[in-house]
Amino acid sequence: MELATLRHSTSHVMAQAVKVLWPKTMLGIGPAIEDGFYYDFDKEEPFEPEDLDKIEAKMRDIIKKDYKFERLEMKKQDALKLFKSMGEIYKIDLIKAIPGDTVMLYKNGNFIDLCKGPHIEFTGQIKAFQLLSIAGAYWHGIETNPMLQRIYGTAFESEIALKEYLMLIEEAKKRDHRILGKQLEYFSLNEEVGPGLVLYHPKGAMLRTIIENYIKTEHLKRGYELVVGPHIMKSDIWVESGHYDYYKENMYIFKVEGQEYAIKPMNCPGHILVYRSKTRSYRDLPIRYFELGTVYRNEKSGVLHGLLRVRGFTQDDAHIFCLREQAEDEIIKVIDFVIDTLNVFGFDEFSVELSTRPAKSIGNDEDWEAAQSALINALKRKYLEYSVNEGEGAFYGPKIDIKLKDALKREWQCATIQCDFNLPERFDLKYIGQDGKEYRPIMIHRVILGSIERFIGALIEHFAGALPLWLAPTQALIIPVSEKAMEYSRKIEKLLFENDIRVALDSRNERLQKKIRDAEVEKIPYMVIIGEREATEGSLSIRSKSQGDLGEIKPEDFIQMIKKEIQEKVR
Ligand SMILES: [Zn+2]
Ligand SMILES: [Zn+2]
Repeated sequence: MELATLRHSTSHVMAQAVKVLWPKTMLGIGPAIEDGFYYDFDKEEPFEPEDLDKIEAKMRDIIKKDYKFERLEMKKQDALKLFKSMGEIYKIDLIKAIPGDTVMLYKNGNFIDLCKGPHIEFTGQIKAFQLLSIAGAYWHGIETNPMLQRIYGTAFESEIALKEYLMLIEEAKKRDHRILGKQLEYFSLNEEVGPGLVLYHPKGAMLRTIIENYIKTEHLKRGYELVVGPHIMKSDIWVESGHYDYYKENMYIFKVEGQEYAIKPMNCPGHILVYRSKTRSYRDLPIRYFELGTVYRNEKSGVLHGLLRVRGFTQDDAHIFCLREQAEDEIIKVIDFVIDTLNVFGFDEFSVELSTRPAKSIGNDEDWEAAQSALINALKRKYLEYSVNEGEGAFYGPKIDIKLKDALKREWQCATIQCDFNLPERFDLKYIGQDGKEYRPIMIHRVILGSIERFIGALIEHFAGALPLWLAPTQALIIPVSEKAMEYSRKIEKLLFENDIRVALDSRNERLQKKIRDAEVEKIPYMVIIGEREATEGSLSIRSKSQGDLGEIKPEDFIQMIKKEIQEKVR
């Protein structure tokens, strides 16, 4: 039995139960989704959380009755009449949109629904299900349409599988970066600033700086050069790049002194203009330009989500200009870069997807063939398994996506490697070949972490907020037990600071237990507890987040230990 079929069938049973409990309710649609199903309802009074229990109880009755799912074919006219008689205005809307003279219906018990199936045979085959949440959803997702109430649920083939899934979502809730981000004071998103625009608070800005410094240094080590472009550029550049035609509705465009400008949604044109600023020889290639480029894209407010979907974000973006025959090796270097980086940040698992030529595309067959085989050969040489998204590439070239897997095995989009022969053409990029003639370079767009914002979200959820020492905004918190230990505490604070350890001092007039509890909530890797004894003996009492009490240690030993752990980027 397909899980999707089971889940969709459960959504029918849920709708059936709702109609029994609240007969005036009108039905929207009820598909299976990735982890379960939903059904949209038009009901005057809002559903209350306790209604879910009532619906579940009614569903169990229906399952017990073991109704058969019967498939019916009906003339469109008759179906319209039928649903009109039931007052199901949304179904009428749906039937009208179906081409042909007949429509499919499914019937279980006295419940009938417009549906092309497939379904399970009997309601009794539903063994394990649970309703999860209630949300609002516009009919057809259009904001001017009526707002319906959506009930989400899930179903599995066994109680054990359902329990495992419920535990996983419970754990995911605890790790939600929007909640932890607020609790740890990393960032905020608020209406005053505008939706999808991130305000980094000191600790979040520190984390971001650590990530940025690491990734910048790593690029320099790997033969990239840093470039920096402006955040706004004249519209003409976006016309030349094609964004003005293909991407305009996602761009913020405005006028200055009669001249139209756009805030950059991508970093590519800036890098291209640097390349084009002088004559290039084949001997200069590959040229690799890197920028921590902040871009702004006009995403619909409805799709914005924490740090994952935002309107302003920074990419670790680079463009490699190379000869055709260099492309494969360059792609391999990028893949190595991605894998090394994921490992450093604590991710061991990832998946790879190749997206190929879409139906609507520019460029000739030969170019596409060459670009796709460069990507495929690179993956083969790295012995990487990958799935293929047929026809899902950009209109100007194929790409590889690498998605990291977090501790809960959820996938997060991070790296993308994209071959492009369109922009070199549009911007008339050239290099002088060995024979003195002009040729077109290939361009590879690539990001390693992807969006720094999304990557921070992934890190927070992967580590449940307890970041490894080298990433922790505060690495050590000094907790004086009493006022008498304050002077020595300040001395230790200064000593750690001078040793490049990110240290803070909790000088509040609070009880020790309260200070320790707060440090735990803040998920600080090391607490340095200093009482009168430590002050007189010139020692420290250390409590490690991962290893518990480490007892009394000399300051120089603690510094050596913590520095080693930072340097080795221990997870
Ligand atoms: Zn159905
Ligand atoms: Zn690009």
